[in-house]
Amino acid sequence: MVEKTDGPKVGGPKILLAQLRQTMAQTMGAQERLDEIVELIAHNMSAQVCSFYVLRDDAALELFATRGLNPKAVHMTTLRIGEGLVGYIAEQAHTLALEDAPSHPSFAYRPETGEDEFHGFLGVPVLRAGQTLGVLVVQNLEHRVFNEEEVEALLTTATLMAEMLSTSEFESLIKPGADIDLRRARAFEGMGFADGVALGEVVLHDPRVVVRHFVADDVEHEKQRLQMAIQTMRVSIDDMFSSGDMQVSSEHREILESYRMFAHDRGWVRRLTEAVDSGLTAEAAVERVQNDTRARMLRQSDPYIRDRLHDLDDLANRLLRVLTGASSIFEHHDLPENAIIVARNLGPAELLEYDRSRLRGIVLEEGAATAHVAIIARSLGIVAVGHAQNIVSMCETGDDIVVDGFVGQVHLRPPPDVEATYAEKLKLSERRQKKYATLRDLKSITKDGVEIALLHNSGLVADLGALNETGATGVGLFRTELQFMVASKLPRLAEQVELYKEAMDFCGERPIVFRLLDIGGDKVVPYLRSAAEENPAMGWRSLRLALDRPGLLRTQVRALLQAANGRALKILVPMVTETEEYRQCISVIAREVERLKRSGIEAPQKLELGAMIEVPSILFELDELLEITDFISIGSNDLIQFLTASDRANTRVASSYDPIGVPRLRAIKMIVDAAKRHKIPLTMCGELAGRPIEALALMAIGMTSLSMGPSSVGPVKDLVLNLDLAPIREEVNKVLNGHNKGQDMRDLLTQLAEKQNLPL
Ligand code: PEP
Ligand code: MG
Repeated sequence: MVEKTDGPKVGGPKILLAQLRQTMAQTMGAQERLDEIVELIAHNMSAQVCSFYVLRDDAALELFATRGLNPKAVHMTTLRIGEGLVGYIAEQAHTLALEDAPSHPSFAYRPETGEDEFHGFLGVPVLRAGQTLGVLVVQNLEHRVFNEEEVEALLTTATLMAEMLSTSEFESLIKPGADIDLRRARAFEGMGFADGVALGEVVLHDPRVVVRHFVADDVEHEKQRLQMAIQTMRVSIDDMFSSGDMQVSSEHREILESYRMFAHDRGWVRRLTEAVDSGLTAEAAVERVQNDTRARMLRQSDPYIRDRLHDLDDLANRLLRVLTGASSIFEHHDLPENAIIVARNLGPAELLEYDRSRLRGIVLEEGAATAHVAIIARSLGIVAVGHAQNIVSMCETGDDIVVDGFVGQVHLRPPPDVEATYAEKLKLSERRQKKYATLRDLKSITKDGVEIALLHNSGLVADLGALNETGATGVGLFRTELQFMVASKLPRLAEQVELYKEAMDFCGERPIVFRLLDIGGDKVVPYLRSAAEENPAMGWRSLRLALDRPGLLRTQVRALLQAANGRALKILVPMVTETEEYRQCISVIAREVERLKRSGIEAPQKLELGAMIEVPSILFELDELLEITDFISIGSNDLIQFLTASDRANTRVASSYDPIGVPRLRAIKMIVDAAKRHKIPLTMCGELAGRPIEALALMAIGMTSLSMGPSSVGPVKDLVLNLDLAPIREEVNKVLNGHNKGQDMRDLLTQLAEKQNLPL
């Protein structure tokens, strides 16, 4: 039965908020408090009905409180997402104001609630981090047009309800077995960046600011606080522009430009001011506007608009920090055991700031398997998954999480059976690790007698230790730029010498190949300024930069020679596009050797110089180049990127072309054949070498030296030891020579591997 509460309009949003604050300050039971809240809202808004629905983890919206509908329906009536007007609001996450509700196509009549008589309808989603937690509705018997102020009042109240829900205020009202959706288990299908399984606790890299004060004491004061905070934020963005920190990357610059645009966007500032006007504190206003943005973001499929909404979300976070004085950095000493970092994206230096003894995994919304943060995660044995869409806004620091780097899955707040399955998987993976450990001292040789050298990719002292565990025979690629990427300023000669010396000392008799600085592209070194580039991967990077800035190159070569101090030294030149560049580079090295001798320091007993084959152009000058190299190394990450014209860091295209598809494998075979003709040692040091099927393809075309992340050595060695290579070689070469047209190389290799029962 419906009671009538007609009467004059009683309050406005500010009065309503003040009344709600009073109610919240009183001690009372959860249901009683909720009943009082809906009563206050109905009264304040001159509505006959006010109802509050909460979204449960079974996707049902349960009526939690009502003023005006049948009280017996409370905790009994449920609607599915998308069902009726309430379900529609929950699904769409936006407001619905209707003069005549029954004429809306989504209207669904529930006899037990006695709703049929109502016409005027206003419903708003209760949102947190863009997710629907529930729906708040007011209804009137008569036709009613709700004005902006009324919509605003209900939205403001919804912000408060969201806070109460997320702080477990209504815990006692949740029926057993029907938890609220906010705490629902969620699974994400991403991309595996670093193999392994990790179970742990979420640590948000960029923690959300917790807003504690929602209701303003003094609206004018809050407006001033908001204005000042916006001003401070604008100044800080301008400072970032003028400091030039962002000049290295056009992408960063673009982000900053969109920050600046939004920071001055009148619509955004107006929405914030209106929220304060409705009686919220400045920070609660930011939270409310941010919630709407997130809700739109979660439902947006256009990547450009999503990115812009992300920027707006970041900006709101900045503003919240200014307002609350919260720090933007996680207190690293608070890192729990089994920490799993969740972030939109992460730079390699940021990753290295975390205590690695407690870090088990990272989960990113963005990134790419060949991006440097992924490479570092692999080299440190940290499980990593990328492309977990929207995970940041769906989790909280402290949530349980499972990360499966093998298949790229993430389970947030996993149900017990999922957790148990993964605990088993973890045990299995530990058993596998134990098995790999038993292979450590075995010679890496196929069953039919082909020796395959397995080496590490490395770049930090921290990851060298793994050499003793995997039994790899040396370091096939030492990425010297990592030292530059994790430093806050240009490492000096002495610092470079120290790192190279430490690395050589550690390796002892085992070979180590130092690659000259490969800066640029996605390897951003913030303190090295350069003009913004449209296309940095194909811009002023790597060897081009080194030859233009011979000072940097000379210092590095000097550091390497000094660190060697007479020992054998291998130097690898990256991104060689034509032979002439390589010639210029080795002449700089030769001059440094002469200089070293003049200064009385011993020259390396053996100096071997090599070139990286990773720019397609050099494929057509291999004979000239190989005449003047001691060894070569293929960088498949860049080579495939340039061969297929697909940005290795752009996830939309990076996985579109199989790197071992026939055209790519033929290109790699060209290099293998040239190295054989010139009797020059050849290694594969791109990510291809570390993945079993890909490694199999490489061995099939005649490669016998593979350099990879340490965690890949065990699985690849296991494969080598079980492998009968000759029949696979034959089949693969047939396809490369044009037989069996249309045969997919990956399918073929998978079949052949299955035939031999190979561990993949
Ligand atoms: C490559 O390009 O494959 C490579 C090994 O170099 P990097 O990934 O450091 O560019
Ligand atoms: Mg490269």
